[in-house]
Amino acid sequence: MDYNFYFKSRQGEMISLLKDLVQRESPTSDKKAVDACSAFLVEKFKKIGAKITRFPQKKRGDLHLVEFPAKPDKKREDQLLVLTHIDTVWPVGKIQQMPFYVAGDRAFGPGVLDMKAGLVLVFYALKTMNDLNIKPKKTIAVLINAAEETGCEESHQLIRTLAKRSSLVLCLEPSLPGGALKTQRKGRLVIRLEIQGKAAHGGSPDKGVSAIDELVAQLRLISRLRNKDISINVGLIGGGEKANVVPDRAWAVLDIRFWDSIQKEKVQRFFKNLTPTLRGARVRFATESLTPPMEKTKPSAMLLQDVKNIASGLGMTLETGRTGGGSDASIASGLGIATLDGLGPDGDGIHAENEHLLLPSLVKRAALLTELLRQL
Ligand SMILES: [Zn+2]
Repeated sequence: MDYNFYFKSRQGEMISLLKDLVQRESPTSDKKAVDACSAFLVEKFKKIGAKITRFPQKKRGDLHLVEFPAKPDKKREDQLLVLTHIDTVWPVGKIQQMPFYVAGDRAFGPGVLDMKAGLVLVFYALKTMNDLNIKPKKTIAVLINAAEETGCEESHQLIRTLAKRSSLVLCLEPSLPGGALKTQRKGRLVIRLEIQGKAAHGGSPDKGVSAIDELVAQLRLISRLRNKDISINVGLIGGGEKANVVPDRAWAVLDIRFWDSIQKEKVQRFFKNLTPTLRGARVRFATESLTPPMEKTKPSAMLLQDVKNIASGLGMTLETGRTGGGSDASIASGLGIATLDGLGPDGDGIHAENEHLLLPSLVKRAALLTELLRQL
């Protein structure tokens, strides 16, 4: 069976489901909207014989686990985990200015590539297995995250639990432009820096300790960490109350990214050793969030080889590359579990108004994913 031809004949149906999903806008912050989009999709999964487990959330959209087949005859340990997310960065109403449309071999719309197309892929892969009575080697567990774009501890915890139960993890984030898989992702550390000084009249600043002066000095020191592998963005800053008062408080929030654990530890060590430059100032930091880098590991390299072999059976050559952005794949990979990311379709403009998907890659990746779920 050549799934390339099979899915080519179903391209119209797949685009129609993609349109349904894109039009059900689902920004991370809007629980009601995300839940409505998820309800629409999980109903479809139920109809093709999958088991659905809902993990209710108070503030974010509910998380869903789709298991296929619903009644596995093998042990639960033998599980393949597929990571997806249904939330997007686009607010409700964006669809008015950025409608879903197809032009030539491209489909446009908010969230079309990141990652509603990934959801279409996994739905069609499972539907095909159900329609053609194909039994996957392992039980397939698909996590539909509802807060991937912002990250949230509940979903990270669930990913860790599910990943530990799985022998391998496939993530349906879009490929790199050109179709390459993602084998390395930067890790991300968000640090809040708090400076305590001493207030005094602006006319006699020597009687106080300026928290802002201290913050500026600290940011200069921190900038020395920057190099070709470690990036630092001071994204938020604040402090002081009036121009004529020596500020006793200042703060900044930093987004720091790195390729590997050694660089991560270097950054963390640096912050642990922060000392004030001004006498009487106090410097503290808090880690607001930490996403591990996705590094090249032995289990992932072995999985990549298997995936490349299966792809070549479909006449596809897979390249690999690295990206600065994070994804849920980093969490699974950080546990030492064989993980591969960027298995979603090709396109461009993620988080930008020209976000689009290349339709030929939707067909190719559906064929590839079906073979992977069948053979791995
Ligand atoms: Zn994404």
